[in-house]
Amino acid sequence: ASGRTPLMAGNWKMNLDHLQATHLVQKLDWTLRDGKHDFGAVEVAVLPPFTDIRSVQTLIDGDRLDLRFGAQDLSPHDAGAYTGDISGAFLAKLGCTYVTVGHSERREYHHEGDDVVNAKVQAAFKHGLTPIFCCGEGLEVRQAGTHVEHVLAQVEAGLAGVTAEQARTVVVAYEPIWAIGTGEVATPDDAQEVCAAIRTKLAELYSGDVADGIRILYGGSVKSGNVAAIMAQEDVDGALVGGASIDPGEFAAICRFRD
Ligand code: PEP
Repeated sequence: ASGRTPLMAGNWKMNLDHLQATHLVQKLDWTLRDGKHDFGAVEVAVLPPFTDIRSVQTLIDGDRLDLRFGAQDLSPHDAGAYTGDISGAFLAKLGCTYVTVGHSERREYHHEGDDVVNAKVQAAFKHGLTPIFCCGEGLEVRQAGTHVEHVLAQVEAGLAGVTAEQARTVVVAYEPIWAIGTGEVATPDDAQEVCAAIRTKLAELYSGDVADGIRILYGGSVKSGNVAAIMAQEDVDGALVGGASIDPGEFAAICRFRD
């Protein structure tokens, strides 16, 4: 919507080994180029598991593909005694553009609260990565009708300390938890309601000008059949796609939502 380049980001979650990853990126690139996809008009990114990133980087850089890539998480720390963690410095060295932060699966299974999510957002900026900051309400909150306040509180806490200059580049992903991996997509009006409220909050936190430039994605069971209606909403600037992103034909069709 209004001057913002849409972003379609594929969150592969914990799927695909490095050979499958290479195959998927090749197929995605062929399918998009076959359809004369304008990568400048709709940006496309893949977010593989850590162990696939080097293979994806080699392919994308080696063949000069117009795809971006990133990671699904990062440590809030730069280096040190944090067994099993991966720092933003490592991801930057691998050429990552993006990193998702605060995905609901991290918040739930790894007990990441707003403070940890905020530290990860800061770490991403420190290492020159663009955070895709995820927020969204669970079913109980939605049923109680307090979803807008809930999400805005997550946005305020998650972006605490982020400067206006940094905020200009952040990507926000609104992902209602009840729609993730369930096949139950939010209605376009539901998505617009919360994405518009997020933009208003960003304008309060920064300025109207900064808020106007920030891309706000919707995530939750996006597929080729429902993406166009969601993308028609004024404040929805792309999609964070889980399940459908590991099917290259389906993900390419999502990226070509304007066709
Ligand atoms: C996600 O993991 O961010 C997501 C939106 O998943 P799905 O598209 O499978 O609902």
